[in-house]
Amino acid sequence: MNSPHTLSHIVIAGGGTAGWVAAAALSRLTNNGETRITLVESEEIRTVGVGEATIPPIAMFLRLLGIDLSEFMRETQATIKLGIEFEGWLREGHRYIHPFGDYGRDINAVRFYQYWLKLRAFGKDVGEIEEYCLAAMAARHQRFAPPDPDPRTVQSSMAYAFHFDAALYAAYLRRYSEARGVRRVEGKIADVTLRSEDGYVSSLKLADGREIEGDLFIDCTGFRALLIGKAMGVPYVDWSHWLPMNSALAVQSERVADPLPYTRSTARPAGWQWTIPLQHRTGNGHVYCSDYMNDEDAGKILLASISGRPLTAPSQLRFTTGRRAEFWSRNVVALGLSSGFMEPLESTSIHFIQAGVTKLIALLPDKRFNPIERDTYNRLSIMQFEQTRDFLILHYKATERTGPFWDYVRNMDIPDTLAQKIELFRSNGRLFRFEDELFGEANWQSVLMGQGIMPERWDPMADALDVNVVAKQVQGIREAVRETALRLPTHQEFLTRFCAAPEPVD
Ligand SMILES: Cc1cc2nc3c(=O)[nH]c(=O)nc-3n(C[C@H](O)[C@H](O)[C@H](O)COP(=O)(O)OP(=O)(O)OC[C@H]3O[C@@H](n4cnc5c(N)ncnc54)[C@H](O)[C@@H]3O)c2cc1C
Repeated sequence: MNSPHTLSHIVIAGGGTAGWVAAAALSRLTNNGETRITLVESEEIRTVGVGEATIPPIAMFLRLLGIDLSEFMRETQATIKLGIEFEGWLREGHRYIHPFGDYGRDINAVRFYQYWLKLRAFGKDVGEIEEYCLAAMAARHQRFAPPDPDPRTVQSSMAYAFHFDAALYAAYLRRYSEARGVRRVEGKIADVTLRSEDGYVSSLKLADGREIEGDLFIDCTGFRALLIGKAMGVPYVDWSHWLPMNSALAVQSERVADPLPYTRSTARPAGWQWTIPLQHRTGNGHVYCSDYMNDEDAGKILLASISGRPLTAPSQLRFTTGRRAEFWSRNVVALGLSSGFMEPLESTSIHFIQAGVTKLIALLPDKRFNPIERDTYNRLSIMQFEQTRDFLILHYKATERTGPFWDYVRNMDIPDTLAQKIELFRSNGRLFRFEDELFGEANWQSVLMGQGIMPERWDPMADALDVNVVAKQVQGIREAVRETALRLPTHQEFLTRFCAAPEPVD
């Protein structure tokens, strides 16, 4: 017998990726037999239709839902993502991979890259830092196999995420959720009713007159933010002075080659372009700042540089980078685009939806809505958003690119938290992961070095071992990573064997 205060009805407003991720997780993980879940969406109002690259925690999230990864990949036309190749971000012609997974292995409790820095300074042939990361080397050779469970093997260090078709992912999670009792209501939300005594949401009014009452409401209405923004007036904290991108054009194109197992991000005069390879097609998009580039030119740049025939007309998206002042206010929790938005440079938005709903489940309120649950949720969410904001700003700040847009971002003031991180790394390569930070030391190291910030000196802790002994170990790791990468099946062989998707039907 549950408590009389247990939530009776959770109402999810919106059925894009956020709505269906929330429905799937809540139906699986709050299975108390007393809480009904209803999702309201309108076929008249389209989803954003983008959001196709992810980061490694998604595999754990899907497993938590009991989803078979092979089935999931087949049904969503998914491919493997081993990281992002940044092309032209430091300067034209330069490229580096921000891979998933670690570089080398710690020696004597000192980070591997510290030895790499030292040996390099001693004039040893240590090659590029990416040669020590299996995901990066596998990406370079277009190969993939899942991590080996034996922690002694190099292959145990493989880390990966997915690219998938956003529409197929939402449809897949809808089937999953409805099979677990989630009720879907088709209808347009016309109004949100607030209780006069405390401003809590009491119901959603649909255009056809129906009314849906609930205890807890999840706002997944996208940029419209019908509950948290429009009805409740929770302010938006604008970060566009640091991340000035505000526009994107997205277009799908025909697949012309075997899909790459990584996302490509190519710097452009006022922004950048993504290439996301799926099994059946390629996703492309140009993210730009309209103060420095008009839509027509942005479209021309995009269409001139995609491979394969365009399958759709480019679709235009507008956004303001930032976050809600509160992600959870009274009895409304915002997930997805209604909660805030950071451009897709490091593919973090879907992760924030997953992280948001799992945090919500961990802090699930009852009908009394103890403010400590809400406050903890907000504190954790704001911290993760701000840490990720800093990580994104780093890509723009540390560059040698020139031109009106790049001059602005290269010279702009940055948050103190980021300035301190850069300074600490620049002095002798030290990095720390604060609290529950999404991007760890290997991620920061990869992007700091990739964007041209090299430590002036290595950590003195790396001096405890003889340089020639270390050189041998480092060389051994380099060879082992290379051999392992070359032994793996190609990415296409892996897809064919593990999860070949059916040919799409037009
Ligand atoms: C250019 C761009 C590229 C991106 N790329 C990535 C990426 O690579 N990786 C990543 O992780 N994320 C990415 N994202 C973010 C990702 O697309 C979103 O986080 C994700 O799609 C979630 O969107 P959503 O569900 O919040 O909103 P939406 O997709 O907009 O869904 C909103 C839902 O609300 C419903 N709705 C709205 N108003 C009403 C109403 N009045 N009545 C009834 N229903 C209503 C709609 O019908 C729809 O179902 C990108 C975003 C943009 C803009």
